Amino acid sequence: MSSKTIFSQILSGEIPCDEVYSDEICLAFKDINPQAPVHILVIPRKELSSMREAQKEDQELLGHLLLVSSKVAKQQGLRDWRTVINTGEGSGQVVFHLHLHIIGGRALTWPPG
Ligand code: 5GP
Repeated sequence: MSSKTIFSQILSGEIPCDEVYSDEICLAFKDINPQAPVHILVIPRKELSSMREAQKEDQELLGHLLLVSSKVAKQQGLRDWRTVINTGEGSGQVVFHLHLHIIGGRALTWPPG
C-alpha cells in the first residue's frame, strides 16, 4: 500500500482531480466533498505536511499559495470567501499535505464550528 497522501497521488496524476489552476509551485482543484457552492483546495507541489512543519524557507511558497487562492476565488466569481488552513487532527485536518480551502458562494457564519 502506498504511504503517499491522497494529495501526493493527485499531484503525480495517479488519482484524477477536477483542476481549476496549476503552475510550477501549486495545484488547485475542486474539493470532492464540497461544503459550499465553491470549495477549492490549493496545494503546494512541495511535500509539506501542515503549517506546523512550515519553515522560514517556505515564506515565498506560502505567500504564493495565498495569492493563488485569491486569484482562483475571483476566477470562480467570488467577491467574498473564506480561506481555511486546518493544522493538526484537532482542527479537522485529515489529509497531511498542506492545503488551503477556498470556501464561498453562500453566507458563511462566524465563528466556524
Ligand atoms: P482537511 O480536513 O484535511 O483540511 O481537508 C481535506 C479535504 O480534502 C476535505 O475537504 C476532503 O473533502 C478533501 N478530499 C479528500 N480526498 C479527496 C480527493 O480524493 N479528491 C478531492 N478533490 N478532494 C479530496
